[in-house]
Amino acid sequence: MSDAAHADVPVLERVPGQERAIAFLRQAVARPHHAYLLAGPEGGGKTQGARAFAAALLCRDGGCGECRDCRLALAEKHPNQSVVEPEGRDIHVETVRSEVWQPAYRTAPEPGRKVFVIREADRLNPAAADVLLKVLEEPPADAVIMLLSARPDELPETVLSRCHVVSFLPLSEPFIVETLVGEGADRMRAAVAARLSGGNLGRARRLATTEEGMAFREVAREALSLAATGPAGGLTAADRVLVAADTYKKELAGSLQDELAPFLDERGRAEDAYRAAIRRIEERHKRQVRRAERDYVDRVLLAASALLRDRVVAGIGGERELLLNPDVPVADADVREVPDATAGLAACEEARAALADDVNLNTRLVLEQAFLRLAPRAA
Ligand SMILES: [Zn+2]
Repeated sequence: MSDAAHADVPVLERVPGQERAIAFLRQAVARPHHAYLLAGPEGGGKTQGARAFAAALLCRDGGCGECRDCRLALAEKHPNQSVVEPEGRDIHVETVRSEVWQPAYRTAPEPGRKVFVIREADRLNPAAADVLLKVLEEPPADAVIMLLSARPDELPETVLSRCHVVSFLPLSEPFIVETLVGEGADRMRAAVAARLSGGNLGRARRLATTEEGMAFREVAREALSLAATGPAGGLTAADRVLVAADTYKKELAGSLQDELAPFLDERGRAEDAYRAAIRRIEERHKRQVRRAERDYVDRVLLAASALLRDRVVAGIGGERELLLNPDVPVADADVREVPDATAGLAACEEARAALADDVNLNTRLVLEQAFLRLAPRAA
């Protein structure tokens, strides 16, 4: 125990590219403070760091990375772990009350600490931040709260001042490529994924290793090629994207049972101790399903933007090095035929911004408008 502060924490060592942040968290495992702010750009490893730190706090061996506690914590399914994220634009006060404030002062479902993770904490609305502040002011001895944020200066000073700040730095493109290759990804695909991900390792990994990753770009290419045929094609393109989004949403909805499996007995019934954990997973799942169409459409529009941007770069004689999709020939029919790639790029980015800003907008109308702007004008 005397060496605890210097002990290895295997589960933390697996978080790549953030040596200083991880060294800090490793020191903190033995005697954690009650609140941490993991600050740094999206995709730099904050989420993975938070999961690993949660595992280290919940594991009986201080973060072995292998046991049931570690596995559940890494999957964010440990009964003693609660994860809060924005719903729409904000994190609402009811969410913080029911998923942080109340469970913080209750007995944990399983022996050991309670861990609370608040993602995109800068989106706490003022009422939600007030409730969180109460917990931070009178922290239960067995609770550890982690706030994650890419915009820490937007957090209320009162909240900020009660957290230990752990800084995560942006990851470089070569680092991402080497990490993915080290995990077994094909080098060319890793290079494309690193470029498309904008320094976001999680996104790069999905792009490099899953069918779903590149599927977004395929949907975007098809939509661009349809839109290039004229206004009718633009409307069909919007429809295709929404059909694909609907399939994605249904698959996501169907995945709930898999998530709940660790908490059910052999007859598929919930064990008593896990009722609260199951309810939290169900709530989070519901929110993800509700957001699924928006998330999907955003990723397709982002892929379309990247393809159009390459067309703009090629059009001004830019070097191949600058392309976001070095594996897609820029003379590709789908992209070539969009008459004005610069305007098309703007249309895609405006659609993304509109959908991110207003949860009440009709996704179909926004998509149709964007794809109609890509279509050549009727003669
Ligand atoms: Zn463990």
